[in-house]
Amino acid sequence: MIRVQLRYSFRLYPGTGQRAALAMAFGCARVVYNDALRARETARSEGMPFPKTGDLSKQLITEAKSTPERAWLAEVSAVVLQQSLRDLDAAYRNFFDGLQGKRPRMGAPRYKSRKDTRQSVRFTANARWSITTGGKLRLPKIGDLKVKWSRTLPSVPSTVTVVKDSAGRYFASFVVETGPEVVLPEVAPELGIDLGLGHFAVLSDGTKADSPRFLRRAEKRLKKAQRELSRKEKGSKNRDKARTRVARAHARVADARREFHHQLSTKLIRENQAIAVEDLAVKGLARTRLAKSVHDAGWAQFVSILEYKAARYGRTFVKIGRFEPTSQVCSQCGVKDGPKPLHVRVWTCGTCGSVLDRDINAAVNVAKAAGLAVSACGAQVRPGLVPAPRGEAGTHPTPQPSTAR
Ligand SMILES: [Zn+2]
Repeated sequence: MIRVQLRYSFRLYPGTGQRAALAMAFGCARVVYNDALRARETARSEGMPFPKTGDLSKQLITEAKSTPERAWLAEVSAVVLQQSLRDLDAAYRNFFDGLQGKRPRMGAPRYKSRKDTRQSVRFTANARWSITTGGKLRLPKIGDLKVKWSRTLPSVPSTVTVVKDSAGRYFASFVVETGPEVVLPEVAPELGIDLGLGHFAVLSDGTKADSPRFLRRAEKRLKKAQRELSRKEKGSKNRDKARTRVARAHARVADARREFHHQLSTKLIRENQAIAVEDLAVKGLARTRLAKSVHDAGWAQFVSILEYKAARYGRTFVKIGRFEPTSQVCSQCGVKDGPKPLHVRVWTCGTCGSVLDRDINAAVNVAKAAGLAVSACGAQVRPGLVPAPRGEAGTHPTPQPSTAR
């Protein structure tokens, strides 16, 4: 059975004393992290062996508590400090795996700063955190925190991460492992999705999906807040206020974007038995002109939501390699007629005479590369017609079995 890890986040409302205690926990976790990073960097520069986590834990947590410089480490849960060392381990592992080509290259672990916009601490079962009968989150050495339980947790998680985001909001984040919760009844359509530049996503059935108005509005507000911030004098009080406004607007955009990703992915998973996307390996694109729009569109987040929902609801999900020439091949007859400049949105295949919409053609090719049986008719545009405008999304007939020849 497929196990799926789902993240659940709930807003926390700590009181004044609890906020101070959390600030202390964030600070201590950061200090231990930085101490351990320094110990390892020093060992490396002196040609000594890589210090083990167990030794660092003894030296930088247990023993450090009895020194005057680090005595305050005793004021927070030891679990929080040990988890901070684990985070550093994970950062090193990702870095080394990147060097060995096992995953996209990452930078070496960096020192954390009190100015980092996102701060977090993690409590495992060892910390004996709990949810009280009154529905509060009880954290050792912090207290009972008020939680807004916006969803039901499917099971009791063993670990909770407390996060403070750039907008100064607090969240409790749980990872819950579940099996496929509900296997949806089987449906016929199979779908390829292409990341459009003009549209958020283009589907092989001919639909072009765009960000909804609530997201565009949040983005507009963010831009306005950023403009205002840039006009404020450096070091002024007003600049601080403007910066907070930008952080809030940022958080709202992120929320709205996630909401949109959830809505769209739920719809696609319900309506299709199998879904294929192109693995864009966003990191690899970071140096190209595409990068900004790819990051802005949050494509990676959308794909990962789609992936876990597929697993959860018993649907097929396929990622195809990122070097498939999706815009160079006619989705109707399969002939490869080479790259086309980006401004070419519609063209006629020289071999079979099909009139092809660039984005939909790519989406059909994605589906075909993944071995899905999609209708290719969506990719065809009747001569003289412009590609489907925004308002037309969703009016296409249900796809028929592949009619490639
Ligand atoms: Zn053709």
